[in-house]
Amino acid sequence: MYNKEIIFHHNDPGVYCCTSCGNTLFEAAKKFDACCGFPSFWLHVEGGVKLRPLHTYGRSRTQLLCVRCGTHLGHLFQNKYTPNGLRYCVSKNAIVLER
Ligand SMILES: [Zn+2]
Repeated sequence: MYNKEIIFHHNDPGVYCCTSCGNTLFEAAKKFDACCGFPSFWLHVEGGVKLRPLHTYGRSRTQLLCVRCGTHLGHLFQNKYTPNGLRYCVSKNAIVLER
């Protein structure tokens, strides 16, 4: 299902910003298609995203929050196809592309 050439084919250049406060969160160049229906990135912009460990229902997950306004953005997962082994799974409604 995964294909490196497909998942690293990104669309428009620019940066993705928080819809609530405009803080810069992700570069479009770090976006990829993880076939999960959510926008996915493998790296966040320094100072844009805060990682918070969550322990719910016996499972550990990492929540993604906007550093500036604290809006919930999504979750962080492991992914063996990305350069650093990470996948930021982000809610469509939390980010907007700025050029
Ligand atoms: Zn924000």
